Amino acid sequence: SSISSARFPRISTHGIPTRCWCGEGITTFDSSTAENRYRRFYRCEIARDRKTENHLFKWIDEALIEEIRMVDAKHERVAQGITKFEERVMEKVMVRVEHQIQMSEKLKEKGDLEIARVAHEMKHKLKIATVAMVVVGAIVGIWTSLS
Ligand SMILES: [Zn+2]
Repeated sequence: SSISSARFPRISTHGIPTRCWCGEGITTFDSSTAENRYRRFYRCEIARDRKTENHLFKWIDEALIEEIRMVDAKHERVAQGITKFEERVMEKVMVRVEHQIQMSEKLKEKGDLEIARVAHEMKHKLKIATVAMVVVGAIVGIWTSLS
């Protein structure tokens, strides 16, 4: 066992293995031992014929649990990445909204000035009209008293 371990470098195989340390592809086998009857495991074809050599061995159920944990961790990282992306987008949107608010406030100020100017003009015109009405009234009064 110690000789074969030295021959094949022990590469960390977390999750579902795709290749044995010896370079051979992985196959699934059924356990025939009493304590693990029908329990399935991963192993390369070479290991079946050369029982003394130390090839990759992994229970499928354990590999699947590792794989699920790895996928979970990856999903978590992706989710965090999305959150950061959303934060950046929201910051940009907020800057734009802020700009729009400032723009509309400026327009509102301009609008208020315009309304004030129109109101002032209307008041002035109304004053002229009132004066005109008084003048016309006086003329009519004078004309009726003369006739
Ligand atoms: Zn192998």
